[in-house]
This record gives sequence, C-alpha cells and structure tokens, in this order.
Amino acid sequence: MKFATKAIHSGSDPDPETGAIMPPIYMTSTFVYDAPGESRGYEYTRAHNPNFTILEKTLAALENGKYATVFSSGLGALTNMISTLEPNDKVLAIDGVYGGTFRLFTKVFNKFGIQFETFTPRSLDDLEVKLEQKPKWLLFETPTNPLLEVFDIEAFASLAKKHGVATIVDNTFATPYFQNPLDLGADVVWHSTTKYIGGHSDVIGGVVISNDKDFKEQMDFLRMSLGVNPSPFEAWLLTRGLKTLAVRMEQHQKNAMAIAKFLESHPEVDKVYYPGLESHKDHALAKRQMRGFSGMVSAEFKFSLEEAKKLIQHFKFFALAESLGGVESLVNHPATMTHASIPAEERARIGLSDGLIRFSAGIEDTEDLITDLSEQLNKMSNSRKEVFQ
Ligand SMILES: *Cc1c(COP(=O)(O)O)cnc(C)c1O
Repeated sequence: MKFATKAIHSGSDPDPETGAIMPPIYMTSTFVYDAPGESRGYEYTRAHNPNFTILEKTLAALENGKYATVFSSGLGALTNMISTLEPNDKVLAIDGVYGGTFRLFTKVFNKFGIQFETFTPRSLDDLEVKLEQKPKWLLFETPTNPLLEVFDIEAFASLAKKHGVATIVDNTFATPYFQNPLDLGADVVWHSTTKYIGGHSDVIGGVVISNDKDFKEQMDFLRMSLGVNPSPFEAWLLTRGLKTLAVRMEQHQKNAMAIAKFLESHPEVDKVYYPGLESHKDHALAKRQMRGFSGMVSAEFKFSLEEAKKLIQHFKFFALAESLGGVESLVNHPATMTHASIPAEERARIGLSDGLIRFSAGIEDTEDLITDLSEQLNKMSNSRKEVFQ
C-alpha cells in the first residue's frame, strides 16, 4: 500500500458485527474479564484501549515503523520518553527544538538530574565532538520551528549510532507524508499529533514510533504508570484526521509555497524562511531528504515591532493563534507567543528576532490567502506613508 491508501485502510477493518466502516469509540474506563486473570487483552483505559490500538497501527504504518504508542499530548509523549532516563543522563539537543520541549527539560526534568544541552552544529565534526561526550540521546526537529532549518537525519543518525547515542526526531512539522526519519536511520520518531495529523484544531495528542519491541513495551508501561494516555475519543478523532492527511498536506504545501513566493517578492519583507524556496540555505538537503516542504513559512518584515503586531491582528483568514497544522491558516509572533518560554538572550542567540512572523498555511483557497496578505501589507505600508507625509 502507498501512503494515502495506508492512511485509510491500515489500522482497522469494518466492524464484523455491524458493518460500521469507522471503528466505534470505545468510551469505557474498564473492561470485563472472562475469568479472574483472564482479560481479552484490555483491562483499563489508562493502560490500553481499542481506539489506541487502531491509531497506533495506522501511525506506525505511516512512519514505516513497527510500533507506536499514543499519548495525551506531544509533551506527554516526550515526558514518557524522558522517564526512561536516569539522573545524570545527558540529552544533546539541536537548537530549534519546540519551546515546550526546551521548557520540559530546563524547568522540570532538570530537578531530577537530567542534563540538557542545546547547540548548533556548524559541521559533522562539530557534532562528533559533542557525541564523544556520550549523551544518551541526540534530539532534534527538522524542519525547525520557526526558522525552518533542515538537518541531515541520515548523517546525524549514523554519526550518533557510531557513538552509541540514540537519535530521536520530532517529525511534527514534516509529517510522515513528507519525511520518514526511521527510514533514514533514526531510532525513534515522535509527533505532536495535535498539529497536521489531527489536522482540524480539535484535539491534543502525541505519539512515539520505533522498530524496537523492548522500547515499545517500556513506552506502554510508562504511559500506564504516568497516566499520560489520551481519551478514546481523542484517539478516534486522530484516526479520523489521518484519513485525509495526504490530501491536506498537498494543499498545505501548495499554499505555503504560494505564500513564501509572494512574501519573497514583497518590498516590505526582508527575508523569507521556507525550505521549498531556492533561496533557502538548506533547500538542496530538503529536496533530497523530504518528499515535500510542508506548510510552515516564516518571514522577517521591515515593519517595526509595533507595526508587525498590528499587521498580524488584521488578517481576514490568518487567525492570530499558537499551534499549526490545522485546516485554517494561522499567524503567530514567536517572540511573544510560541517561543515566549525561551529566555530573550537564548532567543537572540538562536536567531529568533522580535520582527519574525510565522504563518501556518491552512487549506483554504490559495488566491484568497494571497489577496488577504497583499491587502493587509498594502494597508500597513500606506498608513506608514501617511505618517511621513
Ligand atoms: C506542538 C509541538 C509539540 C508539543 O506538542 P503538544 O501536543 O502541544 O504537547 C512538540 N513539538 C513540536 C514541533 C510542536 O509543534
């Protein structure tokens, strides 16, 4: 099966009893035993639920992995993974990780002795020096948020393997439709399924996928122990969302490319970050590693911070909101919204300026989105001209 077919046909068959083509929602906390000690594989929803199993099968299939475990959120998935570490274990992360990932390590798990270091490798040699210090994990996202930097998964994972370090890739931005880190040598891939996988801005969820049976058992054990399970309804919503992932991603990408090209040619824009643009510093790597460039675009505007803030409040179709990957387009100011949990000096160090604006291209009509951008940008430049006249 190819991707779009797997998204629809893997995971569950029509219900044998009723013929229902979609699986029912097993909205139950507990399951009846046939006899003491003899369950039918499910006992209690904090541990397992048929809706989890269905979603896990589909997600594993889409990432070309053997095993998946689903969670209450992306950060729930990460919490579960971090719980496999011991005090003084070290995690090496590459700059550009999600703000909440950074916060979870530096504000919560630091108390338990988990060491966390972020850095930007300028070369593979640079990375090797860090890997020689034997961190447990090499953790990164590609493309990153919000600068859409792309890292070479295959090169990084093979170097990590050489040093006995596990490679863990957050594939939320690319989605399994455009990129499969396990195929490129990563040990674990995880997602905030809240984003493109759910796709309709109506559910929070996470998943961890690997080819390692022991790791899968560890993930299931810890999910039950920590209580970071989703609800059956949320798992069902994600199963439903996945069925249209392929067509949605095509339109997200089409809109993102149009937005990136429009902004790149606009006189009020200094710089556009989109891996699909030839001007992007990692374009060649993105083309080689990914099957498409996904739906996120960031741009530096020539406007002052105050002007930029005004601009992002007046779009017709780009709602001012955190998150991404839903059917509706969103606009976000990383410095005051998604990345506010990263200290200002750290933001400056990683090149995240106050004038940066991030767009999540939805799946609306492309022309409507460009018209909206164009009208609002013209209004801003005209109002500035009036001030100077
Ligand atoms: C949103 C997000 C997360 C966290 O996921 P939640 O579902 O919000 O807990 C992690 N990584 C990336 C790249 C994200 O965008």
